[in-house]
Amino acid sequence: MTAINVGRSPVWRVGGRYLVECGGVGRAAMALTAFGRWRFKWFADMGIMAFHCDGVYKYSRNFTDMKLILIGAPGAGKGTIAKLLSTEDGSVQISTGDILRSAIAADSALGRKAGEHMRRGELVPDDLIMALMESRLQHADCANGFLLDGFPRTIPQAEALNKLLGKLNIVLDMVVNIEVPQAVVLDRLTTRRTCENPTCQEIYNIKSKPPLVAGICDRCGSAAVQREDETEDAISQRLQIYNEKTAPLIGFYEGHGLLVNVESTSSEAVIRVVMDELERGR
Ligand SMILES: [Zn+2]
Repeated sequence: MTAINVGRSPVWRVGGRYLVECGGVGRAAMALTAFGRWRFKWFADMGIMAFHCDGVYKYSRNFTDMKLILIGAPGAGKGTIAKLLSTEDGSVQISTGDILRSAIAADSALGRKAGEHMRRGELVPDDLIMALMESRLQHADCANGFLLDGFPRTIPQAEALNKLLGKLNIVLDMVVNIEVPQAVVLDRLTTRRTCENPTCQEIYNIKSKPPLVAGICDRCGSAAVQREDETEDAISQRLQIYNEKTAPLIGFYEGHGLLVNVESTSSEAVIRVVMDELERGR
């Protein structure tokens, strides 16, 4: 057997045929397009995909209904990891920023209230956030699982979320704490540069992914600059707030038996640990 790779999916070549091992529809479809000689079937009700090969169905693993919370300091890579995980399993990524923006865009009663606070430059109060979260978690797309990215941020929010999940009869699979040393976070964020063109916003890193011409976006030619909240002072301040308000969540969820600590500086490694944990728990 020879292992080759289609995207991130392991693909095994067996006697001139290809065996695809994958955990998500997107990857499976990609692999099938590349090697389009197999029949496949999607059992939506069971959340699994089956590949038909030589008279045998090979099943993909089922991660389609995982319900997770991701916590980690600014710069720990929560957003990137959330995106990769939700691509993997078809779950939805939910952040408070997204639900606030969509409630305001939809001009709902809650959205209008939230908008008033934001226009005055105030934090949106927790009870309003919880009401928005309650309606978001009841959308049909959450049935395939969801991933809360950067929420809750404080112990009172975590307590309110526990009550809400109980009321909605939703059971969390796990809370993933992404641990990255603060020195790494500081280095990662202060070396980041963002294209200032609002329709582009391409992200660079002067160490690992510099633009071809220093300070100029490769894609659109606008200036690639350091964001105000990514200077060393601003980041130190964000890390301090995180340590005060959000880090106590680690103990909170540990007490609830839900915590999985992942010490890592690579998104791929974090995802591997989460997948293995989910598989073990089922
Ligand atoms: Zn650009």
